[in-house]
Amino acid sequence: MSTTGSPPTVADVVAALDRRYPPAWAEEWDRVGLVLGEPDHPVHRVACVVDVVPETVDEALAAGADMIVAHHPLLLRGVSSVAATTYKGRIVHRLIKADVALYVAHTNADVAAPGVSDALAARFGLTGLRPLHPPRPGSPADGPGRGIGRIGELPAPTTLAELTRRAADVLPVTAWGVRAAGDPGRMVRTLAVSGGSGDSFLAEATAAGVDAFLTADLRHHPAGEHLAAGGPALLDAAHWATERPWLDDLAAHLRDELGVEAVVSDLDTDPWTVHAAAPRPDDKEPRP
Ligand SMILES: [Zn+2]
Repeated sequence: MSTTGSPPTVADVVAALDRRYPPAWAEEWDRVGLVLGEPDHPVHRVACVVDVVPETVDEALAAGADMIVAHHPLLLRGVSSVAATTYKGRIVHRLIKADVALYVAHTNADVAAPGVSDALAARFGLTGLRPLHPPRPGSPADGPGRGIGRIGELPAPTTLAELTRRAADVLPVTAWGVRAAGDPGRMVRTLAVSGGSGDSFLAEATAAGVDAFLTADLRHHPAGEHLAAGGPALLDAAHWATERPWLDDLAAHLRDELGVEAVVSDLDTDPWTVHAAAPRPDDKEPRP
């Protein structure tokens, strides 16, 4: 924290975020931390986004941000060119020209406590939280309360159908909305949530004995086989909508810890932009 009254630098913001989301906690395949930026440049305003795409960069520049903190890595795989003729190179050029730094906290923010899924769990009022997928014992991320996803108790038992409606209410609005798999009348008391793609945690949700599991990017065969084996009901929300709640926690932390202004992007970056549902039989006009 700055004690001289001058604004924090990019390096100060990096240090504060690295303390809350240590890069060593990220998965081995992940790429987190400072992506672009001069460490000694001052930071007055930070823009918090899930995805670094041209539209969220537009927003950040219009807001006068000096730094973007993103959840998803802009550059995850090996890169041999950032020429402005490429999609990502164009973004890199825009940020450097505008003197805007970029920092990524991805799976290290998923595993942290509080982390991405705590913010998601809070939208449902879940209590008694514990991790769905704790880190391997002895791994860098191993520690109390840490892990990917959260399991907790709903304030009151509810049917899967009602929980699905509530999920659509409490999560940020997307064209995708929320779909669920399983008996609509099934009672749900214990809910597991995991921000982002949760396919790989289906077995852990079953082993945990939860009544339902809310995540994103679920697929036909894994979901169908999971249910056929007696696993918990599934709720499949838009990927962006499951991670957007964390941006509020991130922004609050930046304000409290560094005294910077922090703005949160509500721009839906989910790729799905159109949704149509077949009418239910009871929605149809009665025919004479
Ligand atoms: Zn994600």
